[in-house]
Amino acid sequence: MRICQICEKGKLVKKDVPYEVYGAALGTFPAEVCTSCGEQWFSEGTAKKIEELEKEKGLFGRAKQSKIGYSGNSLIVRIPKEMAKAMGLKKETPITIHPEGKNRITIEV
Ligand SMILES: [Zn+2]
Repeated sequence: MRICQICEKGKLVKKDVPYEVYGAALGTFPAEVCTSCGEQWFSEGTAKKIEELEKEKGLFGRAKQSKIGYSGNSLIVRIPKEMAKAMGLKKETPITIHPEGKNRITIEV
Protein backbone atom coordinates (compact mmCIF):
# COMPACT_ATOMS: atom_id res chain seq x y z
CA MET A 1 0.00 0.00 0.00
CA ARG A 2 1.38 3.37 -1.00
CA ILE A 3 1.32 6.42 1.26
CA CYS A 4 0.17 9.85 0.06
CA GLN A 5 3.06 12.15 -0.81
CA ILE A 6 1.20 15.27 0.28
CA CYS A 7 -0.02 14.55 3.80
CA GLU A 8 2.31 11.58 4.33
CA LYS A 9 -0.21 9.76 6.47
CA GLY A 10 -3.11 8.73 4.24
CA LYS A 11 -3.16 5.53 2.22
CA LEU A 12 -3.81 5.55 -1.49
CA VAL A 13 -6.79 3.51 -2.62
CA LYS A 14 -7.76 2.85 -6.23
CA LYS A 15 -10.99 4.54 -7.20
CA ASP A 16 -12.75 5.89 -10.28
CA VAL A 17 -13.15 9.61 -9.83
CA PRO A 18 -15.08 12.17 -11.86
CA TYR A 19 -12.88 14.91 -13.26
CA GLU A 20 -14.01 18.36 -14.25
CA VAL A 21 -12.38 21.52 -15.50
CA TYR A 22 -14.11 24.87 -15.12
CA GLY A 23 -17.31 23.03 -14.35
CA ALA A 24 -17.17 20.94 -17.51
CA ALA A 25 -17.20 17.22 -16.75
CA LEU A 26 -14.56 15.31 -18.67
CA GLY A 27 -15.58 11.88 -17.46
CA THR A 28 -14.55 9.36 -14.85
CA PHE A 29 -10.95 8.26 -14.54
CA PRO A 30 -9.08 5.67 -12.48
CA ALA A 31 -7.05 7.33 -9.75
CA GLU A 32 -5.43 6.59 -6.44
CA VAL A 33 -7.18 8.62 -3.77
CA CYS A 34 -5.70 9.49 -0.38
CA THR A 35 -7.83 8.27 2.53
CA SER A 36 -6.69 11.20 4.65
CA CYS A 37 -6.47 14.41 2.60
CA GLY A 38 -8.44 13.27 -0.45
CA GLU A 39 -5.70 14.15 -2.91
CA GLN A 40 -6.15 12.33 -6.21
CA TRP A 41 -3.21 10.84 -8.02
CA PHE A 42 -3.54 9.94 -11.67
CA SER A 43 -1.15 7.67 -13.49
CA GLU A 44 0.99 9.29 -16.16
CA GLY A 45 -1.12 7.69 -18.88
CA THR A 46 -4.37 8.88 -17.34
CA ALA A 47 -3.01 12.40 -16.82
CA LYS A 48 -2.04 12.49 -20.48
CA LYS A 49 -5.46 11.30 -21.54
CA ILE A 50 -7.12 14.01 -19.41
CA GLU A 51 -4.83 16.65 -20.89
CA GLU A 52 -5.76 15.55 -24.40
CA LEU A 53 -9.47 15.71 -23.59
CA GLU A 54 -8.98 19.20 -22.15
CA LYS A 55 -7.23 20.29 -25.32
CA GLU A 56 -9.97 18.74 -27.45
CA LYS A 57 -12.61 20.69 -25.57
CA GLY A 58 -10.53 23.86 -25.54
CA LEU A 59 -10.28 23.84 -21.76
CA PHE A 60 -6.59 23.25 -21.33
CA GLY A 61 -4.82 26.09 -19.55
CA ARG A 62 -7.69 28.37 -20.41
CA ALA A 63 -6.45 31.89 -19.78
CA LYS A 64 -8.51 35.03 -19.56
CA GLN A 65 -7.63 38.64 -20.17
CA SER A 66 -8.03 41.01 -17.29
CA LYS A 67 -6.80 44.43 -16.27
CA ILE A 68 -5.18 45.91 -13.24
CA GLY A 69 -7.54 48.16 -11.31
CA TYR A 70 -6.87 50.72 -8.66
CA SER A 71 -8.18 51.02 -5.13
CA GLY A 72 -6.85 53.29 -2.40
CA ASN A 73 -3.10 52.92 -2.59
CA SER A 74 -2.95 49.42 -3.96
CA LEU A 75 -3.59 47.79 -7.29
CA ILE A 76 -6.32 45.24 -7.86
CA VAL A 77 -6.25 42.25 -10.17
CA ARG A 78 -9.70 41.45 -11.47
CA ILE A 79 -10.51 37.78 -11.77
CA PRO A 80 -13.09 37.09 -14.48
CA LYS A 81 -16.46 36.05 -13.10
CA GLU A 82 -16.48 32.70 -14.91
CA MET A 83 -13.08 31.76 -13.50
CA ALA A 84 -14.00 32.90 -9.99
CA LYS A 85 -17.18 30.86 -10.16
CA ALA A 86 -15.42 27.77 -11.46
CA MET A 87 -12.79 28.00 -8.73
CA GLY A 88 -15.19 28.93 -5.94
CA LEU A 89 -13.49 32.27 -5.29
CA LYS A 90 -15.38 34.89 -3.33
CA LYS A 91 -14.70 38.30 -1.89
CA GLU A 92 -12.34 37.93 1.09
CA THR A 93 -11.06 34.53 -0.09
CA PRO A 94 -7.52 34.45 1.32
CA ILE A 95 -4.82 34.21 -1.32
CA THR A 96 -1.04 34.23 -1.50
CA ILE A 97 0.64 36.18 -4.27
CA HIS A 98 4.01 35.02 -5.53
CA PRO A 99 5.97 37.34 -7.78
CA GLU A 100 7.91 35.21 -10.24
CA GLY A 101 10.15 37.58 -12.04
CA LYS A 102 9.04 40.63 -13.98
CA ASN A 103 6.40 39.04 -16.19
CA ARG A 104 4.56 36.61 -14.00
CA ILE A 105 2.60 36.50 -10.78
CA THR A 106 1.20 33.31 -9.35
CA ILE A 107 -1.87 33.53 -7.16
CA GLU A 108 -2.35 30.65 -4.79
CA VAL A 109 -5.77 30.07 -3.28
ZN1 LIG B 1 -2.96 12.63 1.67
